[in-house]
Amino acid sequence: MKSIRVKLSSLFICTLLFTGIGVSNAKTPIKIVDLMITHAQILTMNKDKKVYGNGVIIVKDNRILAIGDNAIASKYKAKKTINADGDIAMPGMINLHNHIPMVAFRGLGENGVDNRLFKFFFPLEKKLLTRDLIRIASRQGAMELALSGVTMVADMYYHEDEVAKSVAEVGIRGVLGETVMQFPVVDAPEPYGGFAYAKKYIAEWKNHPLITPAIAPHATYTVTPEWLLKSKKLAEKENIPMLVHITESAGEKKLISERINPIADDKSIIEYLEDMGFLSDKLLAAHVIFLNKKDMQILKKYGVGISHNPKANSRAGTGMSPAWEMYKMNLDIGLGTDGPMSSNQMDIFNVMGYAATVARLPSKDESRFTSYELVDMATMGGARALDMENEIGSLEVGKKADIIIVDTDAANTQPNYDPYATIAFSAYPQNVTHTIVDGKVIVENGKLTTIDIKEHNKQWGPLTQKVAEFAKTLE
Ligand SMILES: [Zn+2]
Repeated sequence: MKSIRVKLSSLFICTLLFTGIGVSNAKTPIKIVDLMITHAQILTMNKDKKVYGNGVIIVKDNRILAIGDNAIASKYKAKKTINADGDIAMPGMINLHNHIPMVAFRGLGENGVDNRLFKFFFPLEKKLLTRDLIRIASRQGAMELALSGVTMVADMYYHEDEVAKSVAEVGIRGVLGETVMQFPVVDAPEPYGGFAYAKKYIAEWKNHPLITPAIAPHATYTVTPEWLLKSKKLAEKENIPMLVHITESAGEKKLISERINPIADDKSIIEYLEDMGFLSDKLLAAHVIFLNKKDMQILKKYGVGISHNPKANSRAGTGMSPAWEMYKMNLDIGLGTDGPMSSNQMDIFNVMGYAATVARLPSKDESRFTSYELVDMATMGGARALDMENEIGSLEVGKKADIIIVDTDAANTQPNYDPYATIAFSAYPQNVTHTIVDGKVIVENGKLTTIDIKEHNKQWGPLTQKVAEFAKTLE
């Protein structure tokens, strides 16, 4: 089929030359557009689950102008054309939970150390976190995200304005939350100092085409009701998302009761948050492992977004989220990795596999999460969780042009009988050949177009050397 496709596209170029630029042989004016992806197997992820076997996507400015069978390509002349040659084109994936700068510490304390959090995380953060480290590590992480087909990442960390600089430089989208918590931290020496930091950062980054600044009250066991509600008020006033860790460990209710606020025996954490008036559709809750059916209904009622992080949760042995039940109840649930010290990789391909595994293993039910449902969570699910489903998450006319192309000729992606199964279970991040965000090609033939890697490595090398030297003192 490939040779025929090549011939077809050369024929199309000749037609243009003979008929003259701007006029087609059918006398309909040819529209000049910015980008055209031809001969793609397109997974639109729209509500009709439309797939084009040999399709074309037309992009003008930063939006999808048209999408359809490849025949419609003749109505357009593009400044740039990518011949997908039968590869899969699909919406960019959405990683709903991350702490990107922690990539600087990835791979440390991995040999079964006791209390890794106190032995490695906290000393590393205390000693080494600077604005420079956060910006350089964020660039490294955002590059990995872009190369693996993630076009939107939700992140929560410190000095989030530095994270924003690097995510924007690489060219992916970010919902980036500044952390608020009860302890002094690197960017806020006083308790809850992140709140003032967040206000300033939000003012600086609001209305950026790629970055949505957000507020991130760290967790319900590290933030009092007073500050949770202050954060909610700010999120509503600024119309921004709010990112929080919720029910991530089994002992969390006890922890909240002891440290923050007593919770009645007959109330769940979700009910405690509802009674407080904290739940809102602005909320993106990470993990959400320990909850019952009633809690799920409450989260649904408020339109709370959920980041299911099955790889990080199973790796840490914390528990298995009832994600399949939440998905079937039509909650707004998508997929995340958590930080690179918790899940190591940042791509969503392998998270889809974990989502299926953690749903199927305890239930012994192989039908839990079809391939389509996994790809839906990785794309539209993430968009719904962020309340951005009208802009991103599927390939539809009028939506933002966030598109990836996945090679179907690689050893591991052949045969490609079922493209959803190829994406959910066979593909590696390295199979992503192109990543397009906001209409701009930021990864082309597997290479980043936005970052000078040599220049980046001049900063990244010495940084990792410094981390390695300090890490030796922690062993
Ligand atoms: Zn986290």
